[in-house]
Amino acid sequence: MMKMFDLDQELKGVKRIAIAGHIRPDGDCVGSCLGLGLYLRENYPALEAVDLYLESVPERFRVLEGTETIRTSYPKETYDVFFSLDCGDIGRLGNAAEYLHTAGKVICVDHHISNHGFGDVQFIEPEASSASELVYLLLDDKKLSVNAAKALYMGIAHDTGVFQYSCTSSRTMEIAGKLIDKGFDFNELLDLTFFQKTYLQNQILGRALLESMLLMDGKCIISALRKKDLDFYGVTGEDLEGIVSQLRNTAGVEVAIFLYETAIQEFKVSLRSNGKVDVSRVASYFGGGGHVRAAGCTMQGSVYDVLNNLTLHIEKQLKAAEN
Ligand code: 5GP
Ligand code: MN
Repeated sequence: MMKMFDLDQELKGVKRIAIAGHIRPDGDCVGSCLGLGLYLRENYPALEAVDLYLESVPERFRVLEGTETIRTSYPKETYDVFFSLDCGDIGRLGNAAEYLHTAGKVICVDHHISNHGFGDVQFIEPEASSASELVYLLLDDKKLSVNAAKALYMGIAHDTGVFQYSCTSSRTMEIAGKLIDKGFDFNELLDLTFFQKTYLQNQILGRALLESMLLMDGKCIISALRKKDLDFYGVTGEDLEGIVSQLRNTAGVEVAIFLYETAIQEFKVSLRSNGKVDVSRVASYFGGGGHVRAAGCTMQGSVYDVLNNLTLHIEKQLKAAEN
């Protein structure tokens, strides 16, 4: 565990701040960036700028107040402090990395086991449920507004699969309790951002489940979607979140692999494990990263090449775990 830092100390004399998260932003990424951004805007009136950058803001997250201030383009700016949140490496910051390179100071707050550490100030705790949980630890609860609390709660809830995954600790639950004490409709928030799917999202989920296959005596489940399938249903990568978790929920399955085609001979890979296999090791081998039980990467080749390469590594780990 890396030591937490003192936010006031780090922000002494600072005027301009940028906050960014990883590409293809998920709930924790949006929640942690927005939560910290709102808190800084509300409590540090001397700051001249607190600019938030994300590659995109998926529609379902728009229910959070403040998402309209998130920038998805990257004008020429320089900052005193650059916060990298929920991001395991600089490459995953996408275009926001240019502000990191010119910033006076870089602060990295993250919970990916594959994060080797970057930035002048680092608060990296792989055991933490989420970046949002770590952001909460940096803030003074008394000064936290309901809108900032809502954003952090959403981040924690999403990265724990609504408090179901093993990354959920008693500290996670305590923090979630403190956040809901601020008074917001958490039931509605999770319905709108986590559980509810559009009709087309459900259709493509159904398609992925229908076409899935079991390998390794039922211990590994795979499913792949081609670009033409995504085009047929009119969906994009954002609409596919949750499919890999649903695959993992199959009885007897240790590892779930879900891929979708992003370009010719290129696939975005999502991996989930029940704990026997460290999928972050597999993803890291192919240039990605993540956590023991949830990881991802991008791979080149035919769907068969990609699956063959992945399953080789998974089978090796499964065999080692069984011996
Ligand atoms: P997902 O499968 O939901 O896209 O991602 C699962 C986890 O793996 C997340 O924590 C995410 O940050 C990480 N991850 C997914 N894709 C990549 C990737 O291409 N590179 C790295 N470093 N991490 C990834
Ligand atoms: Mn996260």
